[in-house]
Amino acid sequence: MDANAAIDNATSARLFPLFADLRGRAVLVLGGGAVARRKVAVLLETGAEITVAAQVLDPVLQEWVEHGRLHHREGDFEPAWLDGVVLVVAASSDRAPDRIVAEAARTRGIFVNAVDDTEACTFHVPASVRRGRWQVAVSSGGAAPVLARRVRETLEAELDGSLGVLTELVARERARIRRRFPQPHQRRRFFQRLLDGNLPRLLRAGDETGASIAFERALNEAGATPRRGSVALVGAGPGDPGLLTLKALRALQDADVILHDRLVGPDVLDLARREAERIPVGKRVGEDHDAAQARIHASMLQHARAGKRVVRLQGGDPLVFGRGGEELDFLRVHGIEHEVIPGITAALASAAAARVPPTDRRHARSVTLLSPRGRTHVDREALAAPGQTLAIYMGVGELDALAHSLVADGRGTDTPCVLIEHASLPQQRVLTGTLAGLPALAREHGVCAPALLIVGEVAARTPHAARGERCRGETPSVAHAA
Ligand code: SAH
Repeated sequence: MDANAAIDNATSARLFPLFADLRGRAVLVLGGGAVARRKVAVLLETGAEITVAAQVLDPVLQEWVEHGRLHHREGDFEPAWLDGVVLVVAASSDRAPDRIVAEAARTRGIFVNAVDDTEACTFHVPASVRRGRWQVAVSSGGAAPVLARRVRETLEAELDGSLGVLTELVARERARIRRRFPQPHQRRRFFQRLLDGNLPRLLRAGDETGASIAFERALNEAGATPRRGSVALVGAGPGDPGLLTLKALRALQDADVILHDRLVGPDVLDLARREAERIPVGKRVGEDHDAAQARIHASMLQHARAGKRVVRLQGGDPLVFGRGGEELDFLRVHGIEHEVIPGITAALASAAAARVPPTDRRHARSVTLLSPRGRTHVDREALAAPGQTLAIYMGVGELDALAHSLVADGRGTDTPCVLIEHASLPQQRVLTGTLAGLPALAREHGVCAPALLIVGEVAARTPHAARGERCRGETPSVAHAA
Protein backbone atom coordinates (compact mmCIF):
# COMPACT_ATOMS: atom_id res chain seq x y z
CA MET A 1 0.00 0.00 0.00
CA ASP A 2 1.19 3.48 -0.71
CA ALA A 3 1.12 4.81 2.84
CA ASN A 4 1.49 8.44 1.81
CA ALA A 5 -1.49 8.24 -0.43
CA ALA A 6 -3.50 6.75 2.40
CA ILE A 7 -2.42 9.44 4.84
CA ASP A 8 -3.06 12.20 2.29
CA ASN A 9 -6.39 10.67 1.80
CA ALA A 10 -6.97 10.72 5.53
CA THR A 11 -5.83 14.25 6.18
CA SER A 12 -7.38 15.99 3.21
CA ALA A 13 -10.93 15.27 4.30
CA ARG A 14 -12.52 14.01 7.45
CA LEU A 15 -14.40 10.71 7.41
CA PHE A 16 -18.07 10.86 8.25
CA PRO A 17 -18.90 8.72 11.31
CA LEU A 18 -21.90 6.56 10.56
CA PHE A 19 -23.83 3.71 12.18
CA ALA A 20 -25.81 2.19 9.33
CA ASP A 21 -29.08 0.25 9.59
CA LEU A 22 -28.53 -2.71 7.26
CA ARG A 23 -31.62 -4.74 8.14
CA GLY A 24 -32.89 -6.46 5.02
CA ARG A 25 -30.38 -4.70 2.76
CA ALA A 26 -28.18 -6.54 0.29
CA VAL A 27 -24.51 -6.76 1.15
CA LEU A 28 -21.90 -8.50 -1.00
CA VAL A 29 -18.83 -10.04 0.59
CA LEU A 30 -16.07 -11.19 -1.70
CA GLY A 31 -13.97 -14.08 -0.39
CA GLY A 32 -14.56 -17.38 1.38
CA GLY A 33 -11.65 -17.57 3.84
CA ALA A 34 -11.03 -16.55 7.44
CA VAL A 35 -10.96 -12.80 6.73
CA ALA A 36 -14.29 -12.93 4.92
CA ARG A 37 -15.72 -15.09 7.70
CA ARG A 38 -14.80 -12.48 10.33
CA LYS A 39 -16.47 -9.73 8.32
CA VAL A 40 -19.56 -11.86 7.69
CA ALA A 41 -19.83 -12.69 11.40
CA VAL A 42 -20.15 -8.99 12.24
CA LEU A 43 -22.50 -8.32 9.34
CA LEU A 44 -24.78 -11.20 10.35
CA GLU A 45 -25.59 -9.38 13.58
CA THR A 46 -26.96 -6.43 11.59
CA GLY A 47 -29.70 -8.41 9.89
CA ALA A 48 -28.32 -7.68 6.41
CA GLU A 49 -29.08 -9.95 3.43
CA ILE A 50 -25.56 -11.24 2.83
CA THR A 51 -24.20 -12.85 -0.29
CA VAL A 52 -20.74 -14.38 -0.16
CA ALA A 53 -18.96 -14.67 -3.49
CA ALA A 54 -16.16 -17.26 -3.58
CA GLN A 55 -15.27 -20.49 -5.31
CA VAL A 56 -14.51 -22.25 -2.03
CA LEU A 57 -16.02 -21.54 1.38
CA ASP A 58 -14.49 -21.97 4.78
CA PRO A 59 -16.45 -24.67 6.74
CA VAL A 60 -18.12 -22.11 9.00
CA LEU A 61 -19.27 -20.01 6.05
CA GLN A 62 -20.44 -23.22 4.39
CA GLU A 63 -22.50 -24.07 7.46
CA TRP A 64 -24.06 -20.61 7.50
CA VAL A 65 -25.02 -21.05 3.84
CA GLU A 66 -26.55 -24.44 4.62
CA HIS A 67 -28.55 -22.92 7.48
CA GLY A 68 -29.89 -20.27 5.12
CA ARG A 69 -28.14 -17.40 6.86
CA LEU A 70 -26.18 -16.41 3.72
CA HIS A 71 -26.44 -16.70 -0.03
CA HIS A 72 -23.52 -18.10 -1.97
CA ARG A 73 -22.31 -17.18 -5.46
CA GLU A 74 -19.61 -18.96 -7.42
CA GLY A 75 -17.97 -18.10 -10.71
CA ASP A 76 -16.38 -14.94 -12.02
CA PHE A 77 -17.49 -11.52 -10.88
CA GLU A 78 -20.06 -9.79 -13.03
CA PRO A 79 -21.17 -6.20 -12.47
CA ALA A 80 -24.74 -7.49 -12.28
CA TRP A 81 -23.86 -9.00 -8.89
CA LEU A 82 -23.98 -5.46 -7.56
CA ASP A 83 -27.61 -4.90 -8.53
CA GLY A 84 -29.51 -3.77 -5.45
CA VAL A 85 -26.42 -4.03 -3.24
CA VAL A 86 -25.83 -1.19 -0.74
CA LEU A 87 -22.48 -2.25 0.67
CA VAL A 88 -19.52 -4.31 -0.53
CA VAL A 89 -16.72 -5.87 1.47
CA ALA A 90 -13.83 -7.16 -0.65
CA ALA A 91 -12.11 -9.70 1.58
CA SER A 92 -10.71 -12.38 -0.72
CA SER A 93 -7.15 -11.70 0.55
CA ASP A 94 -6.15 -11.33 -3.09
CA ARG A 95 -5.68 -7.74 -4.12
CA ALA A 96 -6.40 -8.05 -7.87
CA PRO A 97 -9.95 -9.46 -7.68
CA ASP A 98 -10.69 -7.28 -4.63
CA ARG A 99 -9.75 -4.20 -6.61
CA ILE A 100 -11.88 -5.16 -9.61
CA VAL A 101 -14.95 -5.50 -7.41
CA ALA A 102 -14.06 -2.38 -5.42
CA GLU A 103 -13.72 -0.36 -8.60
CA ALA A 104 -17.03 -1.64 -9.98
CA ALA A 105 -18.74 -0.76 -6.68
CA ARG A 106 -17.18 2.67 -6.59
CA THR A 107 -18.29 3.38 -10.14
CA ARG A 108 -21.85 2.60 -9.17
CA GLY A 109 -21.63 4.73 -6.03
CA ILE A 110 -21.84 1.73 -3.70
CA PHE A 111 -19.81 1.97 -0.50
CA VAL A 112 -16.95 -0.52 -0.49
CA ASN A 113 -14.35 -1.67 1.98
CA ALA A 114 -11.34 -3.53 0.59
CA VAL A 115 -9.56 -5.22 3.48
CA ASP A 116 -6.01 -3.90 4.01
CA ASP A 117 -6.21 -1.73 0.89
CA THR A 118 -7.02 1.76 2.13
CA GLU A 119 -6.79 3.33 -1.29
CA ALA A 120 -9.52 1.13 -2.68
CA CYS A 121 -11.91 1.84 0.20
CA THR A 122 -14.78 4.27 0.30
CA PHE A 123 -15.52 3.31 3.90
CA HIS A 124 -13.42 2.05 6.78
CA VAL A 125 -14.52 -0.46 9.35
CA PRO A 126 -13.59 1.12 12.68
CA ALA A 127 -12.04 -0.62 15.65
CA SER A 128 -14.89 -0.95 18.09
CA VAL A 129 -15.77 -1.72 21.68
CA ARG A 130 -19.12 -3.24 22.47
CA ARG A 131 -21.15 -3.36 25.66
CA GLY A 132 -24.62 -4.71 25.05
CA ARG A 133 -26.22 -2.35 22.56
CA TRP A 134 -23.45 0.20 22.99
CA GLN A 135 -20.83 0.46 20.30
CA VAL A 136 -17.90 2.82 20.53
CA ALA A 137 -16.17 3.05 17.18
CA VAL A 138 -12.64 4.36 16.72
CA SER A 139 -10.95 5.55 13.56
CA SER A 140 -7.65 7.22 12.76
CA GLY A 141 -8.96 7.96 9.29
CA GLY A 142 -6.92 5.07 7.92
CA ALA A 143 -3.65 6.72 8.97
CA ALA A 144 -2.72 4.48 11.88
CA PRO A 145 -4.93 1.42 12.35
CA VAL A 146 -2.54 0.00 14.94
CA LEU A 147 -2.87 3.11 17.08
CA ALA A 148 -6.62 2.95 16.65
CA ARG A 149 -6.49 -0.55 18.05
CA ARG A 150 -4.52 0.75 21.03
CA VAL A 151 -7.19 3.35 21.65
CA ARG A 152 -9.78 0.63 21.48
CA GLU A 153 -7.89 -1.41 24.09
CA THR A 154 -7.87 1.58 26.40
CA LEU A 155 -11.62 1.99 25.97
CA GLU A 156 -12.09 -1.72 26.41
CA ALA A 157 -10.48 -1.46 29.83
CA GLU A 158 -12.34 1.66 30.75
CA LEU A 159 -15.91 0.91 29.78
CA ASP A 160 -17.44 -0.89 32.68
CA GLY A 161 -18.70 -4.40 31.97
CA SER A 162 -22.05 -3.47 33.53
CA LEU A 163 -22.78 -0.82 30.89
CA GLY A 164 -24.67 -3.20 28.59
CA VAL A 165 -26.98 -4.66 31.27
CA LEU A 166 -27.46 -1.27 32.85
CA THR A 167 -28.61 0.13 29.53
CA GLU A 168 -31.12 -2.70 29.12
CA LEU A 169 -32.45 -2.01 32.59
CA VAL A 170 -32.80 1.71 31.95
CA ALA A 171 -34.45 1.07 28.57
CA ARG A 172 -36.94 -1.31 30.20
CA GLU A 173 -37.78 1.08 33.01
CA ARG A 174 -37.77 4.26 30.97
CA ALA A 175 -41.47 4.99 31.28
CA ARG A 176 -41.48 4.50 35.07
CA ILE A 177 -38.42 6.69 35.50
CA ARG A 178 -40.09 9.45 33.47
CA ARG A 179 -43.29 9.24 35.47
CA ARG A 180 -41.44 9.35 38.76
CA PHE A 181 -39.04 12.16 37.73
CA PRO A 182 -40.80 14.29 35.09
CA GLN A 183 -38.20 17.09 35.14
CA PRO A 184 -34.86 16.58 33.35
CA HIS A 185 -32.88 17.84 36.34
CA GLN A 186 -34.64 15.32 38.60
CA ARG A 187 -33.80 12.55 36.19
CA ARG A 188 -30.19 13.69 36.04
CA ARG A 189 -29.93 13.49 39.80
CA PHE A 190 -31.63 10.10 39.83
CA PHE A 191 -29.17 8.70 37.30
CA GLN A 192 -26.26 10.13 39.24
CA ARG A 193 -27.52 8.39 42.38
CA LEU A 194 -28.05 5.19 40.49
CA LEU A 195 -24.56 5.16 39.03
CA ASP A 196 -22.86 6.21 42.25
CA GLY A 197 -24.59 3.51 44.24
CA ASN A 198 -24.18 -0.24 44.34
CA LEU A 199 -26.06 -0.96 41.14
CA PRO A 200 -23.11 -1.12 38.70
CA ARG A 201 -21.22 -3.46 41.04
CA LEU A 202 -24.27 -5.72 41.49
CA LEU A 203 -24.86 -5.88 37.75
CA ARG A 204 -21.20 -6.71 37.14
CA ALA A 205 -21.47 -9.52 39.65
CA GLY A 206 -24.59 -10.83 37.88
CA ASP A 207 -26.70 -10.30 41.05
CA GLU A 208 -30.05 -9.58 39.40
CA THR A 209 -32.11 -9.62 42.58
CA GLY A 210 -29.72 -7.27 44.36
CA ALA A 211 -29.66 -5.01 41.31
CA SER A 212 -33.42 -4.79 41.07
CA ILE A 213 -33.68 -3.99 44.82
CA ALA A 214 -31.04 -1.26 44.40
CA PHE A 215 -32.93 0.11 41.40
CA GLU A 216 -36.27 0.21 43.23
CA ARG A 217 -34.65 1.89 46.19
CA ALA A 218 -33.11 4.59 44.00
CA LEU A 219 -36.48 5.10 42.31
CA ASN A 220 -38.26 5.50 45.65
CA GLU A 221 -35.74 7.78 47.27
CA ALA A 222 -36.72 11.43 47.33
CA GLY A 223 -35.01 13.29 44.50
CA ALA A 224 -33.17 15.64 46.78
CA THR A 225 -31.29 13.19 49.00
CA PRO A 226 -27.70 14.44 49.10
CA ARG A 227 -25.04 11.98 48.02
CA ARG A 228 -23.05 10.34 50.80
CA GLY A 229 -19.36 11.02 50.72
CA SER A 230 -16.85 8.19 50.74
CA VAL A 231 -13.14 7.55 50.83
CA ALA A 232 -11.22 4.99 48.80
CA LEU A 233 -7.70 4.13 49.90
CA VAL A 234 -6.16 3.45 46.53
CA GLY A 235 -2.79 1.96 45.58
CA ALA A 236 -1.17 3.82 42.70
CA GLY A 237 1.47 1.11 42.16
CA PRO A 238 5.18 1.81 41.76
CA GLY A 239 4.93 4.60 39.18
CA ASP A 240 4.29 3.11 35.74
CA PRO A 241 0.63 3.97 35.01
CA GLY A 242 0.36 0.62 33.23
CA LEU A 243 0.64 -1.03 36.63
CA LEU A 244 -2.48 0.63 38.03
CA THR A 245 -5.38 -1.75 38.53
CA LEU A 246 -8.57 -1.17 36.55
CA LYS A 247 -10.35 -0.51 39.82
CA ALA A 248 -7.81 2.14 40.77
CA LEU A 249 -8.29 3.76 37.37
CA ARG A 250 -12.06 3.79 37.83
CA ALA A 251 -11.75 5.27 41.29
CA LEU A 252 -9.50 8.01 39.88
CA GLN A 253 -12.01 8.74 37.17
CA ASP A 254 -14.91 8.93 39.60
CA ALA A 255 -13.07 11.06 42.16
CA ASP A 256 -14.10 14.53 43.28
CA VAL A 257 -11.00 14.97 45.43
CA ILE A 258 -7.64 13.19 45.28
CA LEU A 259 -5.36 13.36 48.29
CA HIS A 260 -2.08 12.08 46.93
CA ASP A 261 1.39 11.27 48.19
CA ARG A 262 4.44 12.95 46.81
CA LEU A 263 5.56 9.57 45.45
CA VAL A 264 2.63 9.48 43.01
CA GLY A 265 3.83 10.91 39.72
CA PRO A 266 2.08 13.09 37.13
CA ASP A 267 1.66 10.18 34.70
CA VAL A 268 -0.73 8.53 37.12
CA LEU A 269 -2.47 11.74 38.18
CA ASP A 270 -3.07 12.62 34.54
CA LEU A 271 -5.40 9.63 34.32
CA ALA A 272 -7.75 11.06 36.93
CA ARG A 273 -10.97 12.86 36.15
CA ARG A 274 -10.10 16.30 34.87
CA GLU A 275 -12.43 18.09 37.27
CA ALA A 276 -11.09 16.24 40.32
CA GLU A 277 -9.36 18.47 42.85
CA ARG A 278 -5.80 17.21 43.38
CA ILE A 279 -4.31 17.90 46.79
CA PRO A 280 -0.73 16.84 47.57
CA VAL A 281 -0.62 15.73 51.17
CA GLY A 282 3.07 14.90 51.69
CA LYS A 283 4.92 16.06 54.76
CA ARG A 284 5.71 19.78 54.61
CA VAL A 285 9.05 21.29 55.50
CA GLY A 286 9.30 21.68 59.27
CA GLU A 287 6.23 19.49 59.86
CA ASP A 288 6.48 16.17 61.70
CA HIS A 289 4.87 12.93 60.54
CA ASP A 290 2.05 13.08 63.06
CA ALA A 291 1.08 16.61 62.08
CA ALA A 292 1.09 15.64 58.40
CA GLN A 293 -1.05 12.60 59.15
CA ALA A 294 -3.50 14.66 61.21
CA ARG A 295 -3.85 16.98 58.24
CA ILE A 296 -4.63 14.03 55.94
CA HIS A 297 -7.27 12.74 58.37
CA ALA A 298 -8.89 16.16 58.67
CA SER A 299 -8.95 16.55 54.92
CA MET A 300 -10.54 13.12 54.34
CA LEU A 301 -13.21 13.91 56.90
CA GLN A 302 -13.97 17.38 55.60
CA HIS A 303 -14.40 16.30 51.98
CA ALA A 304 -16.28 13.07 52.72
CA ARG A 305 -18.71 14.95 54.97
CA ALA A 306 -19.28 17.41 52.15
CA GLY A 307 -20.56 14.46 50.08
CA LYS A 308 -17.42 14.15 47.96
CA ARG A 309 -15.89 10.98 46.59
CA VAL A 310 -12.41 11.12 48.03
CA VAL A 311 -9.51 9.07 46.72
CA ARG A 312 -6.61 8.76 49.12
CA LEU A 313 -3.91 7.81 46.62
CA GLN A 314 -0.67 6.29 47.83
CA GLY A 315 2.36 4.88 46.06
CA GLY A 316 2.49 1.08 45.80
CA ASP A 317 -0.12 -0.51 48.01
CA PRO A 318 -2.07 1.75 50.39
CA LEU A 319 -1.65 -0.62 53.35
CA VAL A 320 2.04 -1.47 52.93
CA PHE A 321 4.16 0.91 55.02
CA GLY A 322 2.82 4.43 55.03
CA ARG A 323 -0.05 4.92 57.45
CA GLY A 324 -2.92 3.19 55.69
CA GLY A 325 -3.79 1.27 58.85
CA GLU A 326 -4.29 4.44 60.86
CA GLU A 327 -6.34 5.96 58.05
CA LEU A 328 -8.61 2.90 58.04
CA ASP A 329 -9.12 3.16 61.80
CA PHE A 330 -9.91 6.84 61.47
CA LEU A 331 -12.52 6.23 58.75
CA ARG A 332 -14.11 3.44 60.77
CA VAL A 333 -14.30 5.54 63.94
CA HIS A 334 -15.91 8.42 62.06
CA GLY A 335 -18.38 6.18 60.26
CA ILE A 336 -17.24 7.21 56.80
CA GLU A 337 -18.04 4.80 54.00
CA HIS A 338 -14.76 3.46 52.65
CA GLU A 339 -13.04 0.82 50.57
CA VAL A 340 -9.49 -0.29 49.88
CA ILE A 341 -8.16 -0.81 46.36
CA PRO A 342 -4.81 -2.58 46.54
CA GLY A 343 -1.82 -1.68 44.40
CA ILE A 344 1.41 -3.30 43.31
CA THR A 345 3.80 -2.72 46.16
CA ALA A 346 7.40 -1.59 45.56
CA ALA A 347 8.86 -4.94 46.66
CA LEU A 348 7.00 -6.81 43.94
CA ALA A 349 7.57 -4.19 41.26
CA SER A 350 11.27 -4.16 42.13
CA ALA A 351 11.54 -7.94 42.12
CA ALA A 352 9.97 -7.96 38.67
CA ALA A 353 12.32 -5.23 37.46
CA ALA A 354 15.37 -7.17 38.64
CA ARG A 355 13.90 -10.51 37.49
CA VAL A 356 14.25 -11.83 41.05
CA PRO A 357 11.63 -14.36 42.18
CA PRO A 358 11.43 -13.49 45.89
CA THR A 359 9.90 -16.82 46.89
CA ASP A 360 11.93 -19.14 44.62
CA ARG A 361 11.55 -22.36 46.60
CA ARG A 362 15.08 -23.48 45.79
CA HIS A 363 16.59 -20.49 47.58
CA ALA A 364 14.03 -18.89 49.86
CA ARG A 365 11.99 -20.02 52.85
CA SER A 366 10.30 -16.73 53.57
CA VAL A 367 9.98 -13.15 52.41
CA THR A 368 9.92 -10.26 54.85
CA LEU A 369 8.89 -6.71 53.99
CA LEU A 370 10.94 -4.41 56.20
CA SER A 371 11.86 -0.85 56.80
CA PRO A 372 15.16 -0.15 58.57
CA ARG A 373 13.23 1.31 61.48
CA GLY A 374 11.09 -1.81 61.68
CA ARG A 375 14.12 -4.05 62.10
CA THR A 376 14.49 -3.14 65.74
CA HIS A 377 11.15 -4.82 66.45
CA VAL A 378 11.76 -8.13 64.71
CA ASP A 379 13.76 -11.21 65.42
CA ARG A 380 16.95 -10.10 63.78
CA GLU A 381 18.67 -13.44 64.19
CA ALA A 382 15.88 -15.20 62.34
CA LEU A 383 16.14 -12.69 59.51
CA ALA A 384 19.89 -13.24 59.32
CA ALA A 385 19.53 -16.98 58.71
CA PRO A 386 20.13 -18.10 55.13
CA GLY A 387 17.11 -18.61 52.89
CA GLN A 388 15.30 -15.45 54.07
CA THR A 389 14.49 -12.91 51.41
CA LEU A 390 14.37 -9.37 52.77
CA ALA A 391 12.67 -6.57 50.86
CA ILE A 392 13.81 -3.40 52.54
CA TYR A 393 11.83 -0.19 51.97
CA MET A 394 13.06 3.30 52.77
CA GLY A 395 16.62 2.15 53.39
CA VAL A 396 18.60 3.85 50.67
CA GLY A 397 19.92 6.58 52.97
CA GLU A 398 21.40 4.11 55.39
CA LEU A 399 22.70 1.25 53.28
CA ASP A 400 26.04 1.10 55.09
CA ALA A 401 24.47 0.80 58.51
CA LEU A 402 21.93 -1.70 57.17
CA ALA A 403 24.53 -3.97 55.59
CA HIS A 404 26.64 -3.67 58.70
CA SER A 405 23.93 -4.71 61.07
CA LEU A 406 22.77 -7.60 58.87
CA VAL A 407 26.34 -8.90 58.84
CA ALA A 408 26.64 -8.33 62.60
CA ASP A 409 23.46 -10.40 63.03
CA GLY A 410 25.08 -13.27 61.15
CA ARG A 411 24.27 -12.82 57.47
CA GLY A 412 27.29 -13.59 55.21
CA THR A 413 29.12 -10.64 53.62
CA ASP A 414 28.72 -12.42 50.29
CA THR A 415 24.90 -12.56 50.53
CA PRO A 416 23.56 -11.44 47.15
CA CYS A 417 21.67 -8.13 46.98
CA VAL A 418 19.81 -6.12 44.37
CA LEU A 419 19.02 -2.45 44.73
CA ILE A 420 16.25 -1.12 42.49
CA GLU A 421 15.81 2.61 42.07
CA HIS A 422 12.60 4.02 40.53
CA ALA A 423 11.26 0.55 39.78
CA SER A 424 8.93 0.49 36.75
CA LEU A 425 9.73 4.07 35.70
CA PRO A 426 11.75 5.08 32.63
CA GLN A 427 14.66 6.12 34.84
CA GLN A 428 14.73 2.75 36.61
CA ARG A 429 18.16 1.46 37.62
CA VAL A 430 19.11 -1.97 38.95
CA LEU A 431 22.35 -2.54 40.86
CA THR A 432 23.45 -6.01 41.86
CA GLY A 433 26.13 -6.89 44.39
CA THR A 434 26.73 -8.41 47.81
CA LEU A 435 26.10 -7.13 51.33
CA ALA A 436 29.77 -6.15 51.52
CA GLY A 437 29.97 -4.43 48.13
CA LEU A 438 26.59 -2.89 47.44
CA PRO A 439 26.65 0.23 49.66
CA ALA A 440 29.78 1.55 47.97
CA LEU A 441 28.36 0.73 44.55
CA ALA A 442 25.16 2.62 45.37
CA ARG A 443 27.18 5.63 46.50
CA GLU A 444 29.25 5.52 43.37
CA HIS A 445 26.12 5.55 41.23
CA GLY A 446 24.39 8.20 43.33
CA VAL A 447 21.32 6.06 43.97
CA CYS A 448 18.59 7.95 45.77
CA ALA A 449 15.01 7.42 46.93
CA PRO A 450 12.76 5.82 46.05
CA ALA A 451 14.78 2.64 45.97
CA LEU A 452 14.23 -0.82 47.35
CA LEU A 453 16.81 -3.33 48.49
CA ILE A 454 16.34 -7.06 48.08
CA VAL A 455 18.70 -9.18 50.17
CA GLY A 456 18.97 -12.94 49.92
CA GLU A 457 20.08 -15.91 47.88
CA VAL A 458 17.27 -15.31 45.38
CA ALA A 459 19.06 -12.11 44.31
CA ALA A 460 21.94 -14.14 42.90
CA ARG A 461 19.51 -15.29 40.30
CA THR A 462 19.38 -11.91 38.55
CA PRO A 463 19.88 -13.34 35.09
CA HIS A 464 22.59 -12.14 32.74
CA ALA A 465 19.96 -10.60 30.54
CA ALA A 466 18.99 -8.27 33.34
CA ARG A 467 22.59 -7.54 34.35
CA GLY A 468 23.89 -6.40 31.01
CA GLU A 469 20.89 -4.88 29.31
CA ARG A 470 19.64 -1.34 29.47
CA CYS A 471 16.27 -1.13 30.98
CA ARG A 472 13.75 1.33 29.58
CA GLY A 473 15.21 4.81 29.52
CA GLU A 474 18.58 6.18 28.59
CA THR A 475 20.73 5.55 31.64
CA PRO A 476 22.62 2.27 31.84
CA SER A 477 20.39 0.53 34.27
CA VAL A 478 22.49 -2.22 35.68
CA ALA A 479 25.76 -2.19 37.53
CA HIS A 480 27.37 -5.09 39.26
CA ALA A 481 29.93 -5.53 41.99
CA ALA A 482 30.90 -8.75 43.74
N1 SAH B 1 3.09 1.99 50.05
C1 SAH B 1 4.34 1.92 49.30
C2 SAH B 1 5.54 2.07 50.18
C3 SAH B 1 5.68 3.42 50.81
S1 SAH B 1 7.18 3.60 51.67
C4 SAH B 1 4.39 0.57 48.56
O1 SAH B 1 3.56 -0.31 48.82
O2 SAH B 1 5.25 0.43 47.71
C5 SAH B 1 8.20 4.36 50.48
C6 SAH B 1 9.28 3.42 50.03
O3 SAH B 1 8.79 2.52 49.06
C7 SAH B 1 10.45 4.10 49.33
O4 SAH B 1 11.37 4.64 50.25
C8 SAH B 1 11.05 2.94 48.57
O5 SAH B 1 11.81 2.11 49.40
C9 SAH B 1 9.82 2.18 48.16
N2 SAH B 1 9.39 2.52 46.80
C10 SAH B 1 8.26 3.15 46.44
N3 SAH B 1 8.19 3.26 45.09
C11 SAH B 1 9.31 2.70 44.61
C12 SAH B 1 9.83 2.49 43.31
N4 SAH B 1 9.17 2.90 42.20
N5 SAH B 1 11.01 1.86 43.18
C13 SAH B 1 11.70 1.42 44.26
N6 SAH B 1 11.24 1.59 45.51
C14 SAH B 1 10.08 2.22 45.69
